[in-house]
Amino acid sequence: MDNKKLHFETRQIHAGLHIDATGARGIAIHPTAAYHFESCEYAADLFKLTKAGNIYTRLNNPTNSQYEERIAALYGGVGALTTSAGMSAIMLVVTSLAQGGDNIVASPRLYGGTYNQFRISLRRLGIEVRFAAGETPDDFRKLVDDRTRLIFIESMGNPNCDVLDMESIAKVAHEAGVPFVVDNTFGAGGYLCNPFEWGADIVVDSATKWINGHGTASGGIIVDGGTFDWDNDKYPQIAGPNEGYHGLNLYEAFGKAAFITKCRVDGMRDFGVCSSPFDSYLMMLGLETLSLRADFQVNSTRRIVEALRKHPKVKSVSYVGFEDNPYHKNAEKYFRHGGGAVFSLILEGDIDSTVRFVENLRLAKHMTMIGDSVTVVTHPASTTHKQLSDADMKAAGIAPTLLRVSPGLEHPDDIIADFEQALELV
Ligand SMILES: *Cc1c(COP(=O)(O)O)cnc(C)c1O
Repeated sequence: MDNKKLHFETRQIHAGLHIDATGARGIAIHPTAAYHFESCEYAADLFKLTKAGNIYTRLNNPTNSQYEERIAALYGGVGALTTSAGMSAIMLVVTSLAQGGDNIVASPRLYGGTYNQFRISLRRLGIEVRFAAGETPDDFRKLVDDRTRLIFIESMGNPNCDVLDMESIAKVAHEAGVPFVVDNTFGAGGYLCNPFEWGADIVVDSATKWINGHGTASGGIIVDGGTFDWDNDKYPQIAGPNEGYHGLNLYEAFGKAAFITKCRVDGMRDFGVCSSPFDSYLMMLGLETLSLRADFQVNSTRRIVEALRKHPKVKSVSYVGFEDNPYHKNAEKYFRHGGGAVFSLILEGDIDSTVRFVENLRLAKHMTMIGDSVTVVTHPASTTHKQLSDADMKAAGIAPTLLRVSPGLEHPDDIIADFEQALELV
């Protein structure tokens, strides 16, 4: 069956589903660390990368492979690699492309964990991260030089739901001869947004969020679009002799899949941030309903924001689906239904009354999570941004009464009622 001809809804169920001799429809979990080699010659071929096959679960596992095949089909990439978390997916991508003395250019609107990996840990490894001063293509272009190895943005920024002009920033990357890497966690596994349609060469995605969808496992994925030409002298570790494999040139051996192969055979081999086959099973279950969940959650979000913005104890509601939102136009262009399923609101009152509100919620849960089947409310002033001074919090755009909400799969009217009863007690 040619996946390209099938709709996303069909691919999320059928891609990577291989019914074996047992006839089992369920996905088999292979809880094994190692694999028997039929002959020494066969083992040697596997280790030389001249034959494909299972070597060791850190490198490949049949359950993980089925999941990777489904992800690659959903995104339309040439290959995918599952990792232990979204953070390790990002780390593998960056360290596969850049080394000490190189730099990468990144959006200033990033998830806090990524921001810290870039600002602190990568710097300690000698990789300089240049954060664009603004959001325009020129803000990125200005920072590029001949040691730049990639440009990185989020398709929708966590937590502020900023949607940058992906297509124009992709052009800046390609003019500079470097790949455009997009963290598409808010794009729901490629369903709400697929960055490959807008010039991305590599996608990373925190599968912990939408792909899993039920808050049951951590994971990340890397998807290779197969679009970048690595043979431009900037990436000798991909298009030159590879030290780890007796001088094998990955670009000559694997062509369009050279990058994802590099991430697996060097990155995963050396850093070991692999996925448990049980977690890949959970991810595959989650994927079967991804589009249904995402459609429902976007609709719920719209119902909830409309109800809350009229409430007298709510000062303001910010959602990219509103026409007056500064990112509305980009969201309409890049996101199915013109908006994601995350919004923020600022309550009247102060930090104490906001804490009371959060603690009075009965259905919505106070957690740091998005894309879960449970509605999640996050209060940055008492969690993610607690360490900041009042002045720094203001500079980061975090009001003491700001809340971030990711509606789940409950009936939206029950969530509205839950918010209303908690607001009454404030
Ligand atoms: C959560 C998140 C990550 C990190 O993913 P983990 O699976 O938690 O490691 C990276 N980027 C974005 C946009 C996220 O929301």
